[in-house]
Amino acid sequence: MRFDQPAYSTVHFSEEILVKCPACTETGTVKTRLGQYIYPRPIHYATSFNCSNCNLKNDDDQEWFGYYIGRVKRACGFCGTMIDYTSKPTKEPYEDVNLECGTCKREIEYSLQWSRAKVPYPVDPYLGIALWLQVEVKGKQLWCYNLEHLRYLREYVAAKVREDNNRHKYSLIRNLPGWVKLARNRKQLVRKLNKLEINLLKTLNK
Ligand SMILES: [Zn+2]
Ligand SMILES: [Zn+2]
Repeated sequence: MRFDQPAYSTVHFSEEILVKCPACTETGTVKTRLGQYIYPRPIHYATSFNCSNCNLKNDDDQEWFGYYIGRVKRACGFCGTMIDYTSKPTKEPYEDVNLECGTCKREIEYSLQWSRAKVPYPVDPYLGIALWLQVEVKGKQLWCYNLEHLRYLREYVAAKVREDNNRHKYSLIRNLPGWVKLARNRKQLVRKLNKLEINLLKTLNK
């Protein structure tokens, strides 16, 4: 089998992403209308979430369903020792935290700076919701945004001859991790992707 598909980027597949609804864990969809600029990451896009099972909806582009990490990095107000604190990941950021200085032992309230946390499972890049199409292969996560993405990836993995097709910096294939490209993982990867596809089709036809 020969792989001669165009050099699509991952973003190309991101306009409709299947996710696990944060409320009911059934299949939901993150739909995004991309703007003119999509590299290195999309800006000026419009994104929304919808779950047809529990009717949860979100039209706010700035919403983040994933976790946040809070950070305090500043000098102690009494002795000047650097305070460097990182909170546990949380979905509900709070304003302040009381921290004791390691040197002078005085406790003061500091305000936290919040940023989006990395989580150990794949999420959609717009709203941070766990992807529906994810499967573990040899302790690593293989994931896809939707069926089109899955089939594209499977065609590449299954192919013994892989045409280059002017792969650019942002092409999906060029950015795949090495273990996905290894010939010795081919069979297992194809099997996992087949199973994932069957599970999804079953779920959608329920
Ligand atoms: Zn739901
Ligand atoms: Zn101090």
